[in-house]
Amino acid sequence: MREEADILIRKIIVLDPADSKVLHDVDIAIRGGKIAKIGSEIKMDAAEEIEGEGKIAIPGLVDAHTHVFQIFLRGALSLRELQTHPVWLRVLIPFEAELTREEARISAELACINMIKKGITAFADAGGPYPEILAKVATEAGLRGLVTHSTMDAGPENYRRTARMNRELVLKYGKGRVRGCYSIRQIMTSTDIQIDETFRYSREDDALVHMHLSEEVSEIQHSLSRWGLRPIEFLHNKGYLNSKVVAAHCAFLTSLEIQQLSQTGATVVHCPTISMLYMNFPRIPELVAAGVNVALGSDGGSYRPLDLFLEMNVMISGLTGYYGTPYHDFNIIAPLTALRMATYNGAKMFGDGLGRIKEDHVADITIVDIRRPHLMPLHDPTLLPLYATGEDVTDLIVDGRILMRNRKVLTLDEEKIIQESREAQPQILDKIKSVSKHH
Ligand SMILES: [Zn+2]
Repeated sequence: MREEADILIRKIIVLDPADSKVLHDVDIAIRGGKIAKIGSEIKMDAAEEIEGEGKIAIPGLVDAHTHVFQIFLRGALSLRELQTHPVWLRVLIPFEAELTREEARISAELACINMIKKGITAFADAGGPYPEILAKVATEAGLRGLVTHSTMDAGPENYRRTARMNRELVLKYGKGRVRGCYSIRQIMTSTDIQIDETFRYSREDDALVHMHLSEEVSEIQHSLSRWGLRPIEFLHNKGYLNSKVVAAHCAFLTSLEIQQLSQTGATVVHCPTISMLYMNFPRIPELVAAGVNVALGSDGGSYRPLDLFLEMNVMISGLTGYYGTPYHDFNIIAPLTALRMATYNGAKMFGDGLGRIKEDHVADITIVDIRRPHLMPLHDPTLLPLYATGEDVTDLIVDGRILMRNRKVLTLDEEKIIQESREAQPQILDKIKSVSKHH
């Protein structure tokens, strides 16, 4: 009797950035959520077959820092509003707080289908008003995800969320495909008690802490006057920096802080578009050289189409322009390094055995069609990130389950989500207007 697989992908190119390997014309057999075998002309029967001819398989893309409950802000904030400081406290968080549960559900569905159609298999939400709604939607969608409350205990009363509320999420979801984590929205809106409690729980429960960290000058100034230390120095001195910390942005770093991030194994999430538009050109090449685990994030879909291929391109061009061009050095961030950040480095948040296309690893796979005018001929497949967009993704597999087949999403109703989003638009716009006026 022939061996059986759940899914067999035929004759595909495999690009696994964690070991810079390219395999041509191989088959991938998936069984029980894992990659059972990779090889040429695998003799197995399978319930599902995917024709891989003219396609590239990469490990599933991981959006390591997103804001699912801000997606309805698309096209609503003017450039001037975005420049008024601090936009997150003035507009973004008050807007999130105004969402009804129903609007939050539509927002979560829209974000999830947006992610699937751009080839994203896993995400880490930075914290919103209804993490349990997001967890439900993401579970149904089949995505891998991290959810958390928008944790802050200083600042306006109606936005307050505490570490204890996150503990409920962490314990409820355990180590499932969708799980809870701790978070600190920002140190400026957290008391010392909250910060201490968050890191104590994180240690006790072996759960991540997702933070916005070193993202603006006022935060550095706040930290210096509050503790006499910069934010990362403070966390390091307290013994809080470790491999459980996921720190978004890290745009303002000293060399000492780079060292501290590297020694402690914390993950830094670079969100290229937002960083270069509203923060600066962070010291990503130095972080990478220092061995820091740098992952890639979109910072949510409110400013851009939520496409990690776009983010990889912005990063490569932006950082090369800033750090390389003046010195005629174009090897600042290689495309394969960018792809590793967008896959393997982010997947580490979910534990071992992810982020690779390798036997015995979890089957989270993004399949890209390269038989397209803008991808023809792709002589060197490792340069894929320079040419592809999320729209070139045809199939998506998470945990050995097909979520999208030939660009049709199987787990969510695309037509219904678009319709409901359109219907919600007028009331959403009213909310945005009232929030921008009052803050
Ligand atoms: Zn953010």
